[in-house]
Amino acid sequence: MDLNLEIFSPVHQIKNQLFDEKGLEVSLKRDDLIHPIISGNKWRKLKYVLQRAQTENKNHLVTFGGAYSNHLLATAAAAAKFGFKSTGIVRGEEVTNDTLFLCRLHGMQLIFVDREAYRNKPELFVQYFGADPTSFFIDEGGASREGAKGCSELIDELTETYDHIFCACGTGTTAAGIINGIQKNELPTQFNAVPVLKNGEFLKEEINQFLSGPVDYNLHTAYHFGGYGKTDDRLISFIKQFVAETGILIEPVYTGKMLYAIYDLAAKDYFKPGSRILAIHSGGIWGLLGMKDKFQL
Ligand SMILES: *Cc1c(COP(=O)(O)O)cnc(C)c1O
Repeated sequence: MDLNLEIFSPVHQIKNQLFDEKGLEVSLKRDDLIHPIISGNKWRKLKYVLQRAQTENKNHLVTFGGAYSNHLLATAAAAAKFGFKSTGIVRGEEVTNDTLFLCRLHGMQLIFVDREAYRNKPELFVQYFGADPTSFFIDEGGASREGAKGCSELIDELTETYDHIFCACGTGTTAAGIINGIQKNELPTQFNAVPVLKNGEFLKEEINQFLSGPVDYNLHTAYHFGGYGKTDDRLISFIKQFVAETGILIEPVYTGKMLYAIYDLAAKDYFKPGSRILAIHSGGIWGLLGMKDKFQL
């Protein structure tokens, strides 16, 4: 099976009064348009992982995630599309929700394990599938060197140069790939990571392990809104306004926090007038389904 998925990820400028006043040109790279389910960075992260699975003659993808994991869903859909079986090992007690419904619809088997057991993923893999030579381990969130390689290709697609590139960070794999891409293409671009978890400083280490060489980048750790999956009224009203004004869907777990950071930094004159800023829309809009109640619409 050919693992090619043609990449459609145009760059769209976002125009508004704030960016006009500050003399900024802000654009969004629409990785969310790559695929309706295998969206954004999840396709880029899976591409070379699936290639390796195929080379090693594995036809069963086994991966890990929380009950709302975009990575689980992307893996389920990619497995279905490219002819693999898939199993998702889910953290916590058995539940049903929209994400897991879509995982199952794509043929993914789900195994729920308690939080204690979930900590040791290689052990879980061996326990359930150690005897099956066709099974292939994919780490939580697709964190891997192959994942970073796939994400670096995003930079090869750019036809213009930017002063800043921003991206939301969970495991840091996507950030590492983008930084490697900037380096490889010798771009004068400053990379800006927005951790979506609390105490985001830990991401430096996660990112650095996948970098091809030492490099400076900015970590904006003040935009976690209380931690992973946490929100507040400011973030929710920002997202409502952004979606209603641009027609581009974003969600509170990743892209909402990253874009909030750009708007906030712009308002605080963080950027030099004339700066060109590219935000990566890393997809994940299905995450909205798990957070409908936060919006009170
Ligand atoms: C998973 C995800 C991220 C985080 O990617 P990492 O490589 O884990 O840092 C960012 N944005 C969206 C929409 C995601 O689904």
